[in-house]
Amino acid sequence: MTSVARAVSRAADRLRPRPHEPRDDYAFCPDDRFWFRPAYTEGKCPLCGMVAPGGSPPSPLLRRMDRSWFGLGLLALESLGMMAVVLFMYFRA
Ligand SMILES: [Zn+2]
Repeated sequence: MTSVARAVSRAADRLRPRPHEPRDDYAFCPDDRFWFRPAYTEGKCPLCGMVAPGGSPPSPLLRRMDRSWFGLGLLALESLGMMAVVLFMYFRA
């Protein structure tokens, strides 16, 4: 094998997709030989629907909360700020 062929082979090795290292947030479906993240598939294999061993993990805090309350809170805060500016301009300026 020439040095050019060796370099090309090494580059091709680097491009080839590698199997996932098993990680905590991944689950493996033995039927499809497919790694998936149950957090994004509601705890089921996206190909066959097999339930992941740990079941569906709890969704992140921001997904569980109703985010419209953040918007309402920001709106209330912003209106308090505007009231402060108006009162300041009225009495000081
Ligand atoms: Zn599957």
